[in-house]
Amino acid sequence: MSDLSDLYQELILDHSRSPRNLRRPSNPTASAKGDNPLCGDKITVFLTLEGGRVADAAFEGRGCAISMASASLMTDAVKGKTVEEAEALFQKFQAMVTGKSGAGNHDGGEIDRLSALSGVQAYPMRVKCATLCWHTMSSALAHPGATVSTEKLEA
Ligand code: ZN
Repeated sequence: MSDLSDLYQELILDHSRSPRNLRRPSNPTASAKGDNPLCGDKITVFLTLEGGRVADAAFEGRGCAISMASASLMTDAVKGKTVEEAEALFQKFQAMVTGKSGAGNHDGGEIDRLSALSGVQAYPMRVKCATLCWHTMSSALAHPGATVSTEKLEA
């Protein structure tokens, strides 16, 4: 398993050093702020919705490597998805990082790319770092302009 862990580490480092979609779009249709006070991660997620689909996803913020890598992977993952698909992916991701879906027991596709972050399930503090951007994205879909704090969430 150590080779696999190293691979996951590389992907997380790569995304945290060079985050994808780290920018403020000119005309986002929805945005929300997220705050993980336990770690100091702060993030704003911007979504551009067109016809029930996420045409663009981007973020701004600062935080630990896990939170930045997760936001980078998340924005890539939800782009092009319908709102329902983005929400479903959030549920799958949350189940994965909280250990509620068996490791290596994913159904393929998008969640496999995100499984680089499944290692956080052994570290409850880190789960909040990994899920912050997803909660924020979900909040932007449901209540644009809202602020979510991990301290008011289960994970
Ligand atoms: Zn963090």
